[in-house]
Amino acid sequence: MRFGILMTSALILLITVSSSTKHRDVHIEALSELPLSGKNEKFGFNLNDYHVVKATIQPNQFLADILLQHKVDYQTVAELAEQAKPVFNVRSLRAGKPYYILNSDTTDRADYFIYEPNAISYVVYDIRSKHVVMTDRQINRVQKTASGTISSSLWKTMMDQNLDYELAAKMEDALAWSVDFHHIQQGDLFKAYYEELYVDDKRVGVGELHAAYFRNSNNDYYALKYTNHKYDGFYDLEGRPMKKVFLKAPVQYSRISSRYNLSRFHPVLRRVKAHLGTDYAAPYGTPIYAVANGVVTNAAYTKGNGNYVKIKHDKTYETQYLHMQGFAKGISSGVQVKQGQVIGYVGSTGLATGPHVCFRFWKNGKQVNHLGLNLPEPDPMAKEELPNYFITRDSLKSILDQIDQVPVIKDQLVEEEDITS
Ligand SMILES: [Zn+2]
Repeated sequence: MRFGILMTSALILLITVSSSTKHRDVHIEALSELPLSGKNEKFGFNLNDYHVVKATIQPNQFLADILLQHKVDYQTVAELAEQAKPVFNVRSLRAGKPYYILNSDTTDRADYFIYEPNAISYVVYDIRSKHVVMTDRQINRVQKTASGTISSSLWKTMMDQNLDYELAAKMEDALAWSVDFHHIQQGDLFKAYYEELYVDDKRVGVGELHAAYFRNSNNDYYALKYTNHKYDGFYDLEGRPMKKVFLKAPVQYSRISSRYNLSRFHPVLRRVKAHLGTDYAAPYGTPIYAVANGVVTNAAYTKGNGNYVKIKHDKTYETQYLHMQGFAKGISSGVQVKQGQVIGYVGSTGLATGPHVCFRFWKNGKQVNHLGLNLPEPDPMAKEELPNYFITRDSLKSILDQIDQVPVIKDQLVEEEDITS
């Protein structure tokens, strides 16, 4: 329970931080600190040869606004925008992103406008020749390992170590089917082998998670990434997919507020009435996922259920999701859905005291407690594949096993690679 709450606050915190940085640092500065001699290369230019202005895009500022300030006439701006079309849409200039103006003479008219939509790419507008080129920088992938002992939650422990929330999310995705992250305990242990992406020594994100390990009340869980033309996902030590046929819960970052209970006192009706579902409390508007592939058999409203969706998964299993605020786009009777697809949003329509989804699991036409069910296992990896998989498994497992159990972050090796997307 506590884990869910902490994780939500971590997410909110992160959202706040990133949105505030977007609007910060809106300023214009000349690069007066540049050395006067020698090379100062950036974007393929020797910046020492130019007068350089660095600034950030302001809210509601367009390319024309910027270039007109730098003595580029309107006709040229229009031609540049046209030229740029196949390369970059000038309408996607975003407030808070950096740009540079370069000019080489004393007329103050800009020669180049350079925009950085993200840490990886930049677009160069050559104002004189009206050429527009977008370049992706080289990404260095640094292989890293991390580990830690849980203090209160996986997220908090990882944040305390300055590990990226992207890594926490990837670890949780890899392990979520096996580890109940709502009930992890102090002293539980995690390890990860993953890559971080760097551009010019600057960390720009988390790349692939290669392998993850979690020890929870003396059980060891390994999630090892295996990818080839036929397989792509995380597998356990025996080559069984980590991903199961059914998701553990229809909402992320939620807590169970009421369990399946045949003699529950109903808070609205104020009498004993069997509770044939599991309630997951989550804020209004939280996405609700289909827990497995299937076909929607109902997307309707009733007085008790409110807005609800029912999905038929196979001959045996159906699931039902009640009290939705609304349905996701395209969800109606007869529509095929995939596991993890958003089918609606948490609400309190029908007989409900607060925002939650009442999740009902049907087996052979009867409502059962899915938390006590032995659900069907996914298809195992083909026997012929296993020898190959075991090679990958053994090397990933030995990397994980060698990670110290004290919290450390280590660089392992650097390999360089071009990315084109
Ligand atoms: Zn319920």
